Amino acid sequence: MPQYVVRDQAASSRLAMKKKFFIKTFGCQMNKSDSLIMAQILMDHGFLPAASRDKADIFVVNTCTVRAHAENRALAYISGLRNWKQKVGRVLAVAGCLAQDRANDISRKLGFVDLILGPDSYRKIGDYVAHIIEANTKIIDTKLGNETYHGIYQSISQVSGFVSIMRGCSNYCSYCVVPYVRGRARSRPADDIQHEIMHLTERGVKDITLLGQNVNEYNYGNVDFADLLMRLSKVQKSLRLRFLTSHPKDFDKKTVQVIKKHPNICEWFHLPLQSGNNRVLELMNRQYTKEKYYTLIDYIRGEIPNASITTDIIVGFPSETEEEFQETVALVKKIKFDDAYTYRYSTRPGTKASHLPSLDDPTILRRLSELIETQNKITKEKAEQMKGKEYEILIEGPARGHASRGKTRGNKDVVVEERIEPGTITNVLIKDVKGHTPIGEVVDKDT
Ligand code: SAM
Ligand code: SF4
Repeated sequence: MPQYVVRDQAASSRLAMKKKFFIKTFGCQMNKSDSLIMAQILMDHGFLPAASRDKADIFVVNTCTVRAHAENRALAYISGLRNWKQKVGRVLAVAGCLAQDRANDISRKLGFVDLILGPDSYRKIGDYVAHIIEANTKIIDTKLGNETYHGIYQSISQVSGFVSIMRGCSNYCSYCVVPYVRGRARSRPADDIQHEIMHLTERGVKDITLLGQNVNEYNYGNVDFADLLMRLSKVQKSLRLRFLTSHPKDFDKKTVQVIKKHPNICEWFHLPLQSGNNRVLELMNRQYTKEKYYTLIDYIRGEIPNASITTDIIVGFPSETEEEFQETVALVKKIKFDDAYTYRYSTRPGTKASHLPSLDDPTILRRLSELIETQNKITKEKAEQMKGKEYEILIEGPARGHASRGKTRGNKDVVVEERIEPGTITNVLIKDVKGHTPIGEVVDKDT
């Protein structure tokens, strides 16, 4: 069996023609966007997309390691590919955060993997795959650097897309592995972002989410995040723009004002709270207090009354007491988030918090269900409040059991019992709510 080698030298792509690739993505929107970047690079090298992994010669598994559960799922999935790999000539690549973090383990324990790529090495995926096909070798590249994938524009055919505006993170929240596996924060040139957005709008994309681990830290030359938003809002008046993820410590009033003044920037704010207790927030190294967080929400709602505010919360951080957890529950009830992603704390080796003693599982799970139940009631209440009101939705496609599914400006899914062309922006009147899903009826179509 050939050994893995670390190399960055370009290889010939003449063998690429007619070979097909398939990409399976685990994890967050950033990974989904990265998979599209890899797909574009592979196509630029002459590889063709396959409809499934069974029809593919090259299979890329793009992995996540933010929580132990994500890591275990990806590892189990890759282990299950031993049979897929048995067909002669097939190339198996593992990319993403898990590949970055556990390259040696993967190469040792899953020897049938041919290519291991960290998040800053995708630019070379086409050359590497061609070289593996030609030389029957194995490659690991997990060097982290300044990569922003400038100049690579996705050619997608969906109506909603993602464009990354920065990569990496330098915040070092004490529980989080991202700064270690994605490197320090760096911003992509504003001109290049604008060009990709123009390229996507020409292909019919109607809704773009700008991505970064902390978009509020965006800074390239003299352009900060508010400036960037302002500039991008002018690319196409009908293009909906949104962004993910914001950090409460850096969200400034200037950005709120830009959103208020530009109708095509959606009034959706995903602002991870993580905890409603100041001692825990400090231990997490979040660099804001619950008072500062609340003041920011209050300011946003004062300026933009129909703002949709969603959040992330971690339950059971080491040493979190019952009283401290109840402060989180109380803050969730007070703020009434439109939605919340709730996670049980997961120890990530190498992070600062991994040295703190963990709480016991039953306590963490009980707290998690209490928080989920609290938020579910609020989410249901919010959906009920939509009844009788009109919302602008972008039709993204059909929904299970319904003719069409659309997304509001506040990032809420609405279903419609009428077949409507994906890409249509239409107003709907909310007639009913099933579970947490509002059911709309079209009142006006304009695109
Ligand atoms: N950069 C964003 C931020 O600051 O929120 C998102 C990063 S992370 C990929 C998404 C969410 O995962 C975080 O907001 C946090 O709630 C959660 N998360 C990160 N590390 C975690 C851990 N060790 N255990 C549980 N949840 C975690
Ligand atoms: Fe992780 Fe914190 Fe950076 Fe978000 S801001 S990616 S939670 S270190």
